Amino acid sequence: MNRKRIIAGNWKMNKVIEESLSLVNELKEAVQGINDSIEIVVSPPFTTLSVINDIIKGSNILLAAQDVFWEDKGAYTGEISPVMLKDVGCKYTIIGHSERRQYFNETNETVNKKIKAVLKNDLSVIVCVGETLEERENETTFSVIGTQIRDGLNGLGQKDMEQVVIAYEPVWAIGTGKTATPSQANEVHIFIRDTIKEMFGDEIASSITIQYGGSVNPSNITELMSESDIDGALVGGASLDSGSFIQIIRGAL
Ligand code: PEP
Repeated sequence: MNRKRIIAGNWKMNKVIEESLSLVNELKEAVQGINDSIEIVVSPPFTTLSVINDIIKGSNILLAAQDVFWEDKGAYTGEISPVMLKDVGCKYTIIGHSERRQYFNETNETVNKKIKAVLKNDLSVIVCVGETLEERENETTFSVIGTQIRDGLNGLGQKDMEQVVIAYEPVWAIGTGKTATPSQANEVHIFIRDTIKEMFGDEIASSITIQYGGSVNPSNITELMSESDIDGALVGGASLDSGSFIQIIRGAL
């Protein structure tokens, strides 16, 4: 099965305008002409989406937001809508990152509302799921992730699913330097694909892109990507440096 492979950089709350511009300019130059077997995505903070969009327009880099609200407009001080993300040039938004779940009360229900709002506006989503260390140690990894997938994607149709990417990010591996072993990650990716198959059928399950995230770096990317069900990476820390992000992209080719 020829699935779309995606390497995405999540910059989190890092980079002011000047820093963002130099990072994305270096990236743009380095990935020019790279074959299109891999989609390259950057997810800067809201404040630099617009300037970055001006630079990457017409290049092989796509733009993602890190979060979104579920209403299109209105009295929701501080929030950003899918309409605004589309307007500023986003192709994707990340939804349900573990840091949103941990610090900002994101739940499977709010994830579901956000996904539906985004799809209604013709944007694609990268939906993050993953277990905590405690959940892994209690052997509840599969039930936690099964619930995140079932509740998060509840009510979506097959057509909607064409715009959905899943990122498996074990919380214990994010920003810790501890990567899940490729086979540990792949085992969960297979479980996610099976869950998608039960919900949406074989065709969607075998074509959906499932990224791995959690301390991905230039030295572990190739081995991760060689697993049967790992179709890309969502990269945090190592995407903040153009050199290491470029090495990750090359390592995934
Ligand atoms: C992330 O936050 O999505 C992530 C995977 O971070 P890191 O690569 O730094 O572990």
